[in-house]
Amino acid sequence: MAARKSTARRKPPPQQCEPCKGTGEVARTVLVGRKRRVVGQQTGICLACFGTGDAPTD
Ligand SMILES: [Zn+2]
Repeated sequence: MAARKSTARRKPPPQQCEPCKGTGEVARTVLVGRKRRVVGQQTGICLACFGTGDAPTD
């Protein structure tokens, strides 16, 4: 019988936050006025990981 090598002890890679792709920042669309005209985009902190870039572990 051949012994099978186990890979179960390998450390799992750090989970990357999905909305920000691990950068910790997300692009947000900036809207102004009553008609909500799009004036551009600005970078904001990712609220899913709070800027860490790691996926929230639960
Ligand atoms: Zn994030």
